[in-house]
Amino acid sequence: MEEIILLKQGEIVLKGQNKRFFAQRLESNISRRLAPFGDFKVYTAQSTVYVEPQDASCDTAGAFAALRCVFGVISLSRAAACEKDADAMLETAKLYLKDDFARAKSFKVESKRADKRFPMTSIQLSQYVGGELSEAFPDVAVDVHNPELLVTLEVRDYKAYVHAAPVQGAGGMPVGSNGRAVSLLSGGIDSPVATYMIAKRGISIIPVHFFSFPYTSQQAKEKVLTLAKELTPYCGDLTVEVVPFTEIQQEMRKVCPEEYFTIIMRRFMMRIAEKIANYNGCKALVTGESLGQVASQTMEAMAATEACIGLPVLRPVVGMDKEEIVRLARKIGTFETSILPYEDCCTVFMPRHPKTRPRLAEVEAAETKLDIEGLVAKAIAGIERVRV
Ligand code: ATP
Ligand code: MG
Repeated sequence: MEEIILLKQGEIVLKGQNKRFFAQRLESNISRRLAPFGDFKVYTAQSTVYVEPQDASCDTAGAFAALRCVFGVISLSRAAACEKDADAMLETAKLYLKDDFARAKSFKVESKRADKRFPMTSIQLSQYVGGELSEAFPDVAVDVHNPELLVTLEVRDYKAYVHAAPVQGAGGMPVGSNGRAVSLLSGGIDSPVATYMIAKRGISIIPVHFFSFPYTSQQAKEKVLTLAKELTPYCGDLTVEVVPFTEIQQEMRKVCPEEYFTIIMRRFMMRIAEKIANYNGCKALVTGESLGQVASQTMEAMAATEACIGLPVLRPVVGMDKEEIVRLARKIGTFETSILPYEDCCTVFMPRHPKTRPRLAEVEAAETKLDIEGLVAKAIAGIERVRV
């Protein structure tokens, strides 16, 4: 039996003139994600992306699991293809969904007729196939209101497809269809979730990590690379820019007042991330800040932090509670890595009494003894790029 994967486009269907651009991006993202699973043909018709295995060696189950993480897809199903004929659809349903029938207590047939030349109406087709299936599986009752098994028949241009209820897709927009951003990726819980949320809106991501060896260990860096790898099913391939941050922190400790350490570090992160963004055509920075979570995440601190750059800072988790962020981190699979116990560079130089409501003029005064441009340039020159 010929099995294929059907994916329904999400928000793309709402696009007007440039729908084709978004659809093409989705197709190419899907093709790239399918590469490890064999040779598949990918094409779009009627807001549905068809993924057809080209030979028996294709891993359709693996492909299906991978496609559940692709942004731009609202739902997806594995389906059996057959002739556009009511009896062919019936026989296909009996065979292809026999395990589903063995598990379910009730079922219903629903038909969609994209090909309006098909001789039966949707209702006639559903009634016919439903009646025959009910005889074939007498232990499974027909329930049109709340069926456990939804047998779906789709009559399309060239073929008909039979499948059970689709599963939910990753939603969002195809990665790369809305530009690029630099995401500041620490080893914590919040920034991987923030990265995921922005990628979901169709943004392709360049992760940046500030690394303070030897204050933070090689394992801390490995942890961030692992987190980035865990994001690739959603974000596509990622290359992490690892920025040496130790010298900046040491200089700061020599000449700046301690209560401003956190905010000064964060301003350096912004400046460096902005430079990386500009080199790469990125139009925004992304952080995992959440309002009021720590001293550096008050409105005043955020204002002082971003005052030294021109790009917008996207903070998708700004209004979320920790518990909500944790739930999302578990769902996307980054939580267990995030809670590994390696220190982040911010914690190492944490002031005992940080300023929670810093005034910009005070922060700027606290920075005056630093060679800001020189330190930024040196950090940029020392960047290590790691493809995960
Ligand atoms: P997270 O859970 O993401 O680490 P957090 O609650 O620990 O966040 P902070 O340590 O104040 O918060 O960091 C705020 C944000 O700054 C992080 O979400 C991240 O975007 C960025 N950030 C912090 N440390 C680093 C780092 N070493 N490298 C890159 N980005 C960082
Ligand atoms: Mg952190």
